[in-house]
Amino acid sequence: MARYKDAVCKQCRREGEKLFLKGERCMSPKCGLERRPYPPGLHGKQSQFRRRKKSDYALQLRAKQKAKRVYGVLERQFRRYFQEAERRRGLTGSNLLIMLESRLDSVIYRLGFAASRPQARQVVRHGHVEVNGRKVDIPSYLVQPGDVVAVRPNSRPKPLFREMALDLEHRSVPDWLSRDDQSMSGHILALPTREDIDVTLDEQLIVEYYSR
Ligand code: SF4
Repeated sequence: MARYKDAVCKQCRREGEKLFLKGERCMSPKCGLERRPYPPGLHGKQSQFRRRKKSDYALQLRAKQKAKRVYGVLERQFRRYFQEAERRRGLTGSNLLIMLESRLDSVIYRLGFAASRPQARQVVRHGHVEVNGRKVDIPSYLVQPGDVVAVRPNSRPKPLFREMALDLEHRSVPDWLSRDDQSMSGHILALPTREDIDVTLDEQLIVEYYSR
């Protein structure tokens, strides 16, 4: 299963904003973007002083890249999500974001069982998660209303989850999910709506990018 393997802070530096890919570190002075607030690469530092107006294409590309990076999806899979979003009824851009938000790794992050989406992906891949009582280790698994997502009983005593459990009271859950802190489980009450997704993404630009 392909995933991005380079330094993740470069992705925030490229987008020029925090994408919160590293959990606690993102809030600390160690944040890569705070230490080096300019794009990565040999000429990154100089490029911050160039004030060129971005073309429409550049804006569309950045919107698409940002969405891919926030949700940890590579190009081929992202394009497949877009094609599926086009097929579904409703607005393509909203459908796309709803699908991304319904990924199992994103749900685990939203429930507070991981500090970041990349960590949630790893938690799923390592077999610590079950859906409706059955182990699911596919981060792209799309949850459905009525599903119950939980950290598996054997995994709950592990230090990572013990630590997460202590922090749960500080992690709020969106309206489309409900969480039981005791059993480290969550109920999918409904699919998210566009308004439930608080990531600042311009889905219209993504639609324009793929409609060129
Ligand atoms: Fe982005 Fe977090 Fe790295 Fe800061 S620490 S650059 S927010 S991934």
